[in-house]
Amino acid sequence: MNSTCPAPTESPRNDAPVTAQADVDSAAALSFAQLPLAPATLTNLEQLGYRQMTPIQAASLPLALAGHDLIAQAKTGSGKTAAFALSLLTRLNPRNFAVQALVLCPTRELADQVTQEIRRLARGENNIKVLTLCGGSPMRPQSSSLEHGAHVVVGTPGRIMDHLQRHSLDLAQLNTLVLDEADRMLDMGFFDDIAFVAKACPGERQTLLFSATYPESIAGLSRQFLRQPQRITLAEQHEAGKIRQRFYEVENEEKFAVVGQLLNHYRPVSTLAFCNTREQCRALLQVLRDEGFVALALHGELEQRERDQVLVQFANRSCSVLVATDVAARGLDIAQLEAVINVDITPDPEVHIHRIGRTGRVDQAGWAFSLVSGNQMGRVTEIEKAQGVEFEWHPLNELKPSHSEAEKPLLPPMVTLLILGGRKEKIRPGDVLGALTGEAGFSKEQIGKINVTESTTYVAVARDIAREALRKLSAGSLKGKRAKVHLLQDTAP
Ligand code: ADP
Ligand code: MG
Repeated sequence: MNSTCPAPTESPRNDAPVTAQADVDSAAALSFAQLPLAPATLTNLEQLGYRQMTPIQAASLPLALAGHDLIAQAKTGSGKTAAFALSLLTRLNPRNFAVQALVLCPTRELADQVTQEIRRLARGENNIKVLTLCGGSPMRPQSSSLEHGAHVVVGTPGRIMDHLQRHSLDLAQLNTLVLDEADRMLDMGFFDDIAFVAKACPGERQTLLFSATYPESIAGLSRQFLRQPQRITLAEQHEAGKIRQRFYEVENEEKFAVVGQLLNHYRPVSTLAFCNTREQCRALLQVLRDEGFVALALHGELEQRERDQVLVQFANRSCSVLVATDVAARGLDIAQLEAVINVDITPDPEVHIHRIGRTGRVDQAGWAFSLVSGNQMGRVTEIEKAQGVEFEWHPLNELKPSHSEAEKPLLPPMVTLLILGGRKEKIRPGDVLGALTGEAGFSKEQIGKINVTESTTYVAVARDIAREALRKLSAGSLKGKRAKVHLLQDTAP
């Protein structure tokens, strides 16, 4: 399915799944070198540590580079960004300062991630300008950035539509349109905005649609806006042994207490707990906090800034448990996740596989615990059928009681400090690290992730130095100014 692709205009209508497994077995088939990419791009990929294509890249890049429209479906964290980014970058003319590629993403956070990945992948080429256009930031500076010219625009549908209506964005020279996380954009009600944007693009273009799932609404979207798309589906297959699944039969009323017991028993550093409803998220959060856990919730009602803060604290290991619904957690890519808990088992086998696939990434093992009440047994049977395995059931009494005296409460290893000031104040991660390891005298190992956003900086520090770090940072200066620092802790145990 690589070199023998027919030219896009001649290809038969084909949206039946293409199975790409056969191609991806040998190492040679996974080499980026077999793709028609510039030597500088190949060198850059090597420098980025991208030694081999991921399966979705191996399945989609040959088709995308040959000019086909695509519907590509693969789970979060499978490398979808590079799959479309390498394709759109290949088609750019750097000397033409017109928008030649547009990527639509559901949220600002994802648009930022995609922008960063495209920039990294574009380093082999000189001066490719990538611009992010999302809501929540003023229009005017975005418009003036557009006037200076950009090759690639990444943004959310609503804001892109605003710019089109004000004529600050011109798509006449666009050749690639990407719909990233299309399922989530549709969940968020963006269909009409996407349609508006797609109609503003030239008819002669390539459209690449990426999605973690393939609901009927995606088929509808693609029928309208894609031309003879090739469909690629990578069945989710978790490596045996990497994700250890355990099932517990519990009464509905005892579910929340069992979550606490699981945490105390297995003591995972980071856990993602899935609930089926927002109300249940809220209730579980309260119970966990009452028991002394450092827990946060992710749900649709959060403002972008609040959502950022939650994600930063979870990713930098200063929050033990993140409670979320499927919709809220969609697209979330967290490198280290020791456990997933299905507080309510989902009725959809595909969603179950997607949930547990968040743990056991790369070279680590992960736990996936599912709590099942009597009337939910049918769901488990469905999932077993879909996965072709029989699950391991464990008795509740193997878990230590949740308030055992000997057990210290589970606490995250880090604490987040919030510094007022960010990119606008020209603060860089190195400045913060310098302030903490220099005069303040902490070691590098005591400092965790540093996230600099537009006007705020977050730094994770080891729990046992948190107060001292706060005091020393507040007393010192950053970029010549007195630093204003807070401890970010919603639940001080
Ligand atoms: P998705 O969009 O499918 O959720 P991403 O594109 O965000 O996945 O990629 C997940 C992570 O994998 C990113 O950190 C990315 O830099 C990394 N990655 C992507 N492709 C490769 C590759 N071929 N080799 C190594 N790492 C890769
Ligand atoms: Mg993605």
